Amino acid sequence: MTRPSLTRLSLALFATVFLAVVAQSQVTPAAWSPETLQQLRQVQQAALADDYAYQQVAHLTDNIGPRLIGSSQAAAAVQYVAEELRRLGLDVTLEKVMVPHWVRGEERAELISYPGQAPGTTQKIVVTALASPNNGTGADGITAEVVVVNNFAELAALPADKVAGRIVVFNYPFDERMTAAGFALQAYGEAVAYRAEGPAAASRRGALAALVRSAGSADFRLPHTGLTEFPAGQPTIPSGAITAEDAALMARLAAQGTVRMHLLLTSKMLPEVESYNVIGDLKGSEHPEQVVIVSGHLDSWDLGTGALDDGAGVAIAMEAAQVLKQLHLQPRRTIRVVAWMAEEMGVFGGKVYGKEHATQVADHYAAIETDLGAGHPVGINACCDEAMLPLFEPLGALLQTSGAGIVRASEETGADILPLKVAGVPTFSPIQDVRTYFDYHHSAADTLDKIDARQLRENATVIAVLAYALANMNAQLPRKPQPVPEWMK
Ligand SMILES: [Zn+2]
Repeated sequence: MTRPSLTRLSLALFATVFLAVVAQSQVTPAAWSPETLQQLRQVQQAALADDYAYQQVAHLTDNIGPRLIGSSQAAAAVQYVAEELRRLGLDVTLEKVMVPHWVRGEERAELISYPGQAPGTTQKIVVTALASPNNGTGADGITAEVVVVNNFAELAALPADKVAGRIVVFNYPFDERMTAAGFALQAYGEAVAYRAEGPAAASRRGALAALVRSAGSADFRLPHTGLTEFPAGQPTIPSGAITAEDAALMARLAAQGTVRMHLLLTSKMLPEVESYNVIGDLKGSEHPEQVVIVSGHLDSWDLGTGALDDGAGVAIAMEAAQVLKQLHLQPRRTIRVVAWMAEEMGVFGGKVYGKEHATQVADHYAAIETDLGAGHPVGINACCDEAMLPLFEPLGALLQTSGAGIVRASEETGADILPLKVAGVPTFSPIQDVRTYFDYHHSAADTLDKIDARQLRENATVIAVLAYALANMNAQLPRKPQPVPEWMK
C-alpha cells in the first residue's frame, strides 16, 4: 500500500528537482564543466610555479634590449618571439605592419640666463625628446626665452607676443596622491594630455619649441619620453619632456624674471619601415576558427629596456601557451598569442590586425591584453557588457585562491585590442597594482630589476587561467560595440 504512494512521491520529488535544475540551468548555464574547472586549477598551480615568463622578459630586455619601433632590436625581438612560439609548437605567422621610424639623436638643454645667475655658469635641464614628425632643432640647437604655463588655460590666456618665438614649458604635475590611492591610470590620463597635445597647442600659438613636465610619478629627476601628436597640416615644433624637478625650477626662476634656454634635440623621423605583429596559434580542438587572443606589445621606448612596458605583457602571453603545452591541454577554441608591433607610436599593429581580420570579427570570441606592468594582480577587468559578469563567478572563486578573484566591468583593457573592442569583441586585462608603474614607465628606469619574479608569475597565472577558461567556455558572451575613438579613424 505504501509502496505506490512512495513511488509517486519519489517521482513527484524527482520531477520537481529535475525541473528546478533545468530551470536554473536555463537562467545561468554552467560556463565550465567540472572537468574544465579541474584543468583550470592545474593551469593555476603550474603557472604559479613556472619561471618561463621571467626568462622571456629577461631575454627581451637584457639580451635584445630596448625595442624602439623600426629599430634592429625590434626586428630581432620579432624573430625571437616567432622562433620561441614555434618551439612551443604554435602555428606562427608574421603579419606585416608598416611602422614609423623615429630616431632619437642628441638631446641637451641648459638655462643660459636667468635672475641671480653666477657669472660664467649655466643650469643644466634634464631633457628627452618626444617622438613626433618634427625633425628637431638642427645641430646648433635653438636659443630662446622660456615661458612657463601650468595648464592649457594659462597658455590660452597669454597674449600672442608672450608665446610667439618662445620655448613653452608646460608645468602640469602628475597627481601622486591619486597614484598612491590606486588611481595611477587616471593620474596618467590627466598628465599625459600635456605630452600628447601640449606641443601642438604651443605650435598653434607660434611657439618655437615646447617642453612638457614628465608624465610620471617618481621624483628622481628622470624624464619620461613618449609620443606627441600634431594634427595633419599643422606646423610641428621641436618637443621634449623635462623632469618634474626642472619644470618646477624653471617655474620658480621665470617668476623672478627673464629665463633663456639653449635647447638641442636632433631627433628625426625617417621613412617608415616594414615590421610585424607576431601571431602564434594554439589550435582549438572543437572550434579552431574561434579565437581567444592573449597579448602584449613587443615594441618599447628606448631610454630603458621596456621591461614593464611591455616586455612583461608579451612574456605573460607567451607563458599562457607554454603552460598549456606543458600540461598537454588543448583548448576547445584557438588561443592566439599576439606580440603587437608599434603600440607606442599609435597602435599600428593593432589597427592593421583590426583591418586584416575585419571579416572574422564574429569568430573572435574574446581578446586579452596586459599592458600595465607586472604588479600584483587582484583580478580581471572585463569589457564591455556587464551582463557577462555573473558568468565569471566560478572563475573569480578559483582565482581568489591565489588572491586574484575580483571580476569587474572596466574599459581598461589595452590599446592594441581596441579595434576588436569597438567591434564588440569582449576584452579583458588583469587588474594590477599600478602604484609604482608610472615611476618607471617610458623612463630610463624601466628595466628588468623593476619586475618582481613572483608578481610576474601571479600575472601569468591570471592570464593563462583566463585564456583557457575563455577558450573552453560554454556560453555566448554578450557583445557590445563601442564608439570608435578619434585616433582610430
Ligand atoms: Zn605599453
